[in-house]
Amino acid sequence: MSARPPLFQKILIANRGEIALRVLRACKELGIATVAVHSTADADAMHVRLADESVCIGPPPARESYLNIPQIVAACEITGADAVHPGYGFLSENARFAEILSAHGVAFIGPSAEHIRIMGDKIEAKRTAIRLGIPVVPGSEGRIENEAAAKKIANEIGYPVLIKAAAGGGGRGMKVARSDEELSVAFATARAEARNAFNDDSLYMEKYLEKPRHIEIQVMGDGRGKAIHLNERDCSLQRRHQKIWEEATSPAIDAEQRARIGGVVAKAMADLGYSGAGTIEFLYENGEFYFIEMNTRLQVEHPVTEAITGIDLVNEQISVASGRDLSVRQEDVKVIGHAIECRINAEDPRTFAASPGRITYYHPPGGLGVRVDSAVYQGYRIPPYYDSLIGKLIVHAMTRQECMMRLRRALDEFVIDGIQTTIPLFRDLVNDADIAAGRYDIHWLEKKLAASTSA
Ligand code: ADP
Repeated sequence: MSARPPLFQKILIANRGEIALRVLRACKELGIATVAVHSTADADAMHVRLADESVCIGPPPARESYLNIPQIVAACEITGADAVHPGYGFLSENARFAEILSAHGVAFIGPSAEHIRIMGDKIEAKRTAIRLGIPVVPGSEGRIENEAAAKKIANEIGYPVLIKAAAGGGGRGMKVARSDEELSVAFATARAEARNAFNDDSLYMEKYLEKPRHIEIQVMGDGRGKAIHLNERDCSLQRRHQKIWEEATSPAIDAEQRARIGGVVAKAMADLGYSGAGTIEFLYENGEFYFIEMNTRLQVEHPVTEAITGIDLVNEQISVASGRDLSVRQEDVKVIGHAIECRINAEDPRTFAASPGRITYYHPPGGLGVRVDSAVYQGYRIPPYYDSLIGKLIVHAMTRQECMMRLRRALDEFVIDGIQTTIPLFRDLVNDADIAAGRYDIHWLEKKLAASTSA
């Protein structure tokens, strides 16, 4: 056993909202001092109120505040923070940010800049996955230069195909084509979208899977050749490629498949020397897993994994970033019961139009097996500048059926007045026969929503 290095003394949390609070809570439990950063729009935010210190880093637009690297580095220097936790989104997958912090003697709580960079380029990520023995979706070997090359590859792998952006994220720059004719249009629009969204128009191609599930594996590495997996999450319920309901474990796979794919991924991350939390995302169809991407950070849906394993992922991230060993061995990771997370967005539950404004009444649910991760409170005014996620309801029970019953009960208790939220959508979903049976793929929700608006 190596000696236990000390934990960080003061962590700056480069984020806002529920995830800033999530990280803050872990720091408090570990006895680590906290620094909140905030834009002028977030001066009253809960993460600012609960932190030991706070620094205003700029005006409301994220580009000038939460993405403003010089301001965040200055905030570290002013407060003497020795580490930064980036949460998810914002700078969490910015390799340059990790390097700049390290040049200033501040630790980045996350993997190496090199690993962030590899996984941030989807073509490079796929190449790395293949090298590490992770199964991938059949497709182009790297970047496709032009339409003629695209057609040639599409005819080799067979239609339908999906054109994807190497720099992709949030489902942008992705287009399906079912024939040579469709491919011409798909290629041009994907290229334009990718150039606009990411300033990088590199495209690649994959076989389009018709009815897959989205199943992802949570991993944790110590950066020195040890890595474990913490089972899977099923995130197939999506709208416009955005997850809205996540569960662990997946209703679609059994213990043997879980151990097999988990083992492949854990070994791959150990071989890579990966450090910290990461998620390997797969599409799953007809009993096969196909790698689509890796996220080199904590994910929105991490609490379902915490619920079924009893492992605090943020605590573990901080601990390994401080140079400590993983706190658990693979054989100690258990699956205890079932957990479901609903993403509560400040949106119209039918049109999904953003619904910022003031929360006039707020009553979160409670009781056994119910967790609410949120930074809102009664009287809070949701600013219009940021993501519409205002909270997450996570429910845990010994079986999936009990979990659904508990979720129904918790959703009934949840009251958020003054704005519109997606809670009514979840009240529908929890009573749906397909969901109850665990019978859904990544297109299920879109079809269901289309049917209910035309009805
Ligand atoms: P992004 O980073 O933009 O979210 P991903 O590669 O993670 O892109 O894909 C997002 C979603 O798009 C997946 O969850 C899935 O719903 C769909 N998708 C991606 N690749 C394929 C594929 N080859 N076939 C079918 N659907 C896909």
